[in-house]
Amino acid sequence: MRTPFVAGNWKMHKTLAEARTLMAGLRQRMKPDWEVTVAVCPPFPLLLPMSREIEGTPIRLGAQNVYCQPEGAFTGEVSPPMLVDAGCSYVIIGHSERRQHFGEEHDLLARKVTAAMEAGLEVIYCVGETLADREADRTQDVVARQLEAVITAELDASKLTLAYEPVWAIGTGRTATPGQAQEVHAFIRGRIGSIYDGATAESMVIQYGGSVKPNNAAELMACPDVDGALVGGACLVAEDFAAIIGAAARAKA
Ligand code: PEP
Repeated sequence: MRTPFVAGNWKMHKTLAEARTLMAGLRQRMKPDWEVTVAVCPPFPLLLPMSREIEGTPIRLGAQNVYCQPEGAFTGEVSPPMLVDAGCSYVIIGHSERRQHFGEEHDLLARKVTAAMEAGLEVIYCVGETLADREADRTQDVVARQLEAVITAELDASKLTLAYEPVWAIGTGRTATPGQAQEVHAFIRGRIGSIYDGATAESMVIQYGGSVKPNNAAELMACPDVDGALVGGACLVAEDFAAIIGAAARAKA
């Protein structure tokens, strides 16, 4: 049985005051009987203050990016041990915005995943096809390549969560249908079975991401291979993020 996992990717949003208001709203709405892993992933300057906001709650902290070296002359970068120090349990690696706008390629992503895990972080590794890929019927090829270029059997699978995020659904208001999501999630699980083994594939949490909102979360979470969500826009509003967490809790109860 996989525990559903809902993570909020704040992207480049929120001042400190706004972040505190958001966290107060979230704490107020979280229900103690929801059996869902929940993480918030604020921008770097907010990690330390948010680590205090989550104290005494089941909410965990994640970062949106990390560099692959523990320290050194890498101006502008943040290392895995620094994230641990700031209270992070998770880091998102391979988000399509990092791939698209910052040119992050498989070799770098693989080094980031290894370095993050070595420092004790759990990794949320994102994969997903563009609209052109989908229309050319390349979804499975692209996703398989993104998985196999970065995820190897040497990596500790217990520290890995996958997020299937079709690029055409991120921030667009256009979401995959439950059928489309389920099909790719089942495919990813199969590939994880080939990289590791069947038992590992069965235990791997695979989040869906791409315009998850309170009004579509229940149907997406009802898919057997969808184990939670990586949420962008809707995680910036406490009521909406809590509604998505609640939907995941009910779907998997
Ligand atoms: C994301 O940033 O990972 C994401 C899925 O964004 P949104 O929910 O806004 O589509």
